[in-house]
Amino acid sequence: GPSSPKKIKFNNTKFETNSLSVTNGKSKIDIQEQKKKLPVFQKRAQLLNLIQKHDTLIILGETGSGKTTQIPQFIHSARLQNNGRIGITQPRRVAAVSVAIRVAQEMGNTLGVGEIVGYTVRFEDVTSKRTKIKYLTDGMLLREAIADKLLMDYTVLILDEAHERTIHTDVLFGIVKDAQKNRKEKKLTPLKVLLMSATMDVDHFSKYFNNCQAVYLEGRTYPVNVFYTKTTHEDYQTACIATFFKIHREAPANHDVLMFLTGQEEIEAVAHQIKILAKDPDVEGPPIKVCTLYASQPSTQQMTVFQPAGPNTRKLIISTNVAETSVTISGIKYVIDSGMVKARTFHPSTGLDLLKIQRTSQEQAWQRTGRAGREAEGSCYRIYTKAQFEMMQKTTTPEIQRANLATVAIQLLALGIHAMRFDFMDKPPKDAVRAAFEQLKRLEAINDIDKSDLTPLGKNMAQFPLDPRFSKVLLSAQNYGCLEEALTIVALMSGESIFLNPPSKREQAQTSRQKYCSALGDHITLLNIYREFNNISQNNKRSWCRDNYIHMRNILYAREVRTQLADVCRRCEIPVSSCGSNMDQVRKCLLTGLFTNIAEIHKDKQYITLDKRQVVTIHPSSVLHGQLPPLLLFTEVVQTTKCYLRGISTIEREWLDEIVPNYIRSHNIRSKD
Ligand code: ADP
Ligand code: MG
Repeated sequence: GPSSPKKIKFNNTKFETNSLSVTNGKSKIDIQEQKKKLPVFQKRAQLLNLIQKHDTLIILGETGSGKTTQIPQFIHSARLQNNGRIGITQPRRVAAVSVAIRVAQEMGNTLGVGEIVGYTVRFEDVTSKRTKIKYLTDGMLLREAIADKLLMDYTVLILDEAHERTIHTDVLFGIVKDAQKNRKEKKLTPLKVLLMSATMDVDHFSKYFNNCQAVYLEGRTYPVNVFYTKTTHEDYQTACIATFFKIHREAPANHDVLMFLTGQEEIEAVAHQIKILAKDPDVEGPPIKVCTLYASQPSTQQMTVFQPAGPNTRKLIISTNVAETSVTISGIKYVIDSGMVKARTFHPSTGLDLLKIQRTSQEQAWQRTGRAGREAEGSCYRIYTKAQFEMMQKTTTPEIQRANLATVAIQLLALGIHAMRFDFMDKPPKDAVRAAFEQLKRLEAINDIDKSDLTPLGKNMAQFPLDPRFSKVLLSAQNYGCLEEALTIVALMSGESIFLNPPSKREQAQTSRQKYCSALGDHITLLNIYREFNNISQNNKRSWCRDNYIHMRNILYAREVRTQLADVCRRCEIPVSSCGSNMDQVRKCLLTGLFTNIAEIHKDKQYITLDKRQVVTIHPSSVLHGQLPPLLLFTEVVQTTKCYLRGISTIEREWLDEIVPNYIRSHNIRSKD
């Protein structure tokens, strides 16, 4: 059976934030009463006055003070949007969806989401003509800007979580600033712009937005006890679990715990382990309700984290960084901070896009800590030492300075904007922008890296909410007669893993899925599984997923993504086709977009990438793990202790000359043995 978690030692350092004494009644208050208790409520008149007076305004206020849910409602009820629409951007879909649902509830549940209040996130549009308050991801607003540069659909735009500095937000800053200016010059309906955040460099933002004014909402936070571990913990997941049980043994039942981890797989694994350990008769404490919060969760399930656990039960929420500043859950007394976050990084030197688990910044650590002191004094357990904390970066580097810019570059080109000449708040590194344009040229999306013109292919590529390499794969599918297959594979690669690998049943899971494994690699294996899933009758899908350790929710999500991508393909007039069992066609098609991701066998079971000559290894999760095919095509490189290839297909050497002759020539790559 599961062993009892080991004990972890912490140092105690008291951390005081500006504390205000506000009594926190434990009685149930109704939703309208709750609204009135929020810090923004006291400032309502003053805020509305400032919003009316200024074209652009910065609003700063503690997380949970009511910025995201209340301010759009204030504007709406004061009719400051002049019959137009209020758009509120969120960096993450979880936040956009849950906030929209909440606001719809607050405004009277009779209409529901999609009426006055709605949301639009990738692959999901829940709005109507009547929608006045629209929450959307910044990525979606960017796509809308492609269709209308002046963003005439909105009279008020709120760029929320401005401190997050995702690429999309940074690009939007420039586009929105420009739209506002152009609408003024053309004497069109003015556009009001609000920038909101819990924490940001106000001077930097104000300077970029024509020295606009900033308003501060008074926060109310309580002291938080901060504990550091005495020694470092490589296995932070286990340390998080042990820490949870330490709290669980000591704290009263109504004290809830929020744990920060990095992504779905990890969160599900830890949740699973905690559920098992909780059954151990040696574990003392009240019953535990475990909730999870991460990007690809369906909206209905997301909402359960907000529901109280019930009497005498402890709620544990395991979340990604979305609970840092975007989503506020009440009742949290304890925070467990793994100190880690999953972030996209791009190295101009390797040309590879890496999704990496890395340390947070100190700023993020403080935001996480603050979640424990919102309603009363609380505690934060940091699963790292004081010394490790001091080694962390002070603030988070804007994504644009560390990400693959190809997607952004192509979307900007579709707007007629050249990223090398764009008015960014912080310019991305020149090398990275250049690398992006070179990639677009190799993919034949552009002919000249200095011009703003997209080729007809490039124009189609910009239609997809995807990395241009994957849009290229979809667009080439017509040449290989395999659109159905390409759609399936790209959709499955766009979401989280469909494989369930519970630590205690890893072998069983692998054996049960063995029959779908293809010697051609992971892409074809995914295709086999998806085809089988589709063939199974509706009634048997759930049990089939259980028997084969397939994540039902994720495969259903992939199916939805697939439908949406198929819609874009239809708009681009790509004829429907299927290659049946001819898997050469599928792999050739993948090669048209992913040709910079080729590795060949080297020595000691190692591979070397053709493009950047990087030493890499097949990831243990690959169906090709333990085999040594001479030439590989891979989806991505994951960097942990080593550089691993993930999502792999075998390919034939002759295909290189047939499919990407120019690339082969320009890179001096041997195409023949
Ligand atoms: P801010 O944007 O300033 O961080 P929000 O407007 O997101 O603040 O949150 C204001 C309050 O609304 C918080 O106390 C939060 O707990 C509550 N809230 C937000 N969403 C929900 C929800 N889905 N269910 C219950 N309460 C919610
Ligand atoms: Mg907010």
